Amino acid sequence: MQGLTVHVVGVAQVATPHKHPLTYDPTNVFARILRGEIPAKVLHDDEHCMAFHDVTPQAPTHFLVIPKREIATLSDATPADESLLGHLLVTAANVAKQLGVDEDGSRIVINNGAGAGQTVFHLHVHVLAGRNLAWPPG
Ligand code: AMP
Repeated sequence: MQGLTVHVVGVAQVATPHKHPLTYDPTNVFARILRGEIPAKVLHDDEHCMAFHDVTPQAPTHFLVIPKREIATLSDATPADESLLGHLLVTAANVAKQLGVDEDGSRIVINNGAGAGQTVFHLHVHVLAGRNLAWPPG
């Protein structure tokens, strides 16, 4: 199978396609946040998920919601994860309300795989708000 071509500042790079299930790397940065090994600005924490501010915000409000279960990408989710995936979205909406950014709208994004811009291979939902968000995204 051919890789996806990604253009980064004029240089064409090829993102290696994934075979699923992708082997979960327990040293990824979100696994380390879940274990308390590195700090995060936590907004929500329950039995199934955690939400925290993105360290490099792309909007005035930019936070992430991650499952506690080890799922590398959305494509690695299974039917057993259905309620967990719903819980991530409901938590995203609730945290947006908690931060007072729900009324003006928000952008909910899951980058699914390297070809779509995923860099941390622990499933995460991005929530961006507080500025006008163009469509289609880049
Ligand atoms: P993605 O490119 O979809 O995999 O998104 C990964 C996100 O994780 C990026 O928006 C990063 O800014 C964010 N990120 C990376 N390291 C940390 C960290 N230590 N704490 C919070 N967010 C992080």
